[in-house]
Amino acid sequence: INIIRARYVASAVKKSQYPEEKLKEIAFIGRSNVGKSSLINSLTRVHNLARVSGQPGKTQTINFFELTARMIETGEDKLFHLVDLPGYGYAKTAQANRKQWAKFIEEYFLGSKQLQFVCQLIDIRHAPMKSDIEMFNWLVKNNVPVLIIATKADKISRGAVNKQIAQIRKTLGVKEIDILPYSSVKNAGRSELLEVINQMLND
Ligand code: GDP
Repeated sequence: INIIRARYVASAVKKSQYPEEKLKEIAFIGRSNVGKSSLINSLTRVHNLARVSGQPGKTQTINFFELTARMIETGEDKLFHLVDLPGYGYAKTAQANRKQWAKFIEEYFLGSKQLQFVCQLIDIRHAPMKSDIEMFNWLVKNNVPVLIIATKADKISRGAVNKQIAQIRKTLGVKEIDILPYSSVKNAGRSELLEVINQMLND
């Protein structure tokens, strides 16, 4: 597929604010500063669609984007929603905010019938942190399909990539899970992610 169009549709903190049009959804989540906005911009090729943040932890809404995927073989267009979830694990987020965060994110994960899978982003340079592990375990426990994306892959050597991926697997405690290395700077991993989306749209 090629992504031929991407546009912002809505921001929500509760269910009634989700878009009316029901499309398949892929959500993105990760710690603040993990490179989520950069990845969304790289995937959609729309600069500043998801603003690359100078202020970590600031975006506190669920943002819906409508993407148009054109099938390479048939030329057919298929729409889906890309859902940008607020970052977690930011130290300066107050306790009260965190509870609020958990509440509306959980409502989304448990309540969206359109959600196909979640891309959980983890910085390839470090072992997953406590908040990453908690998020991952929560998703697994609640039967939300997860694709782990290891971000900023250009920051380490090629040899180190496999080593770090093994480390992420080990820390998450899962032997058989696909982890996709991604670099928004080099667009590495982009075609692989598009292929996952392609399969999701054809299911
Ligand atoms: P967000 O808070 O998760 O949305 O993270 P951002 O997309 O705002 O990125 C945080 C910082 O990491 C910014 O300074 C980005 O330029 C940088 N960054 C994001 N992705 C990459 C990447 O793939 N490679 C490199 N080298 N830097 C990245």
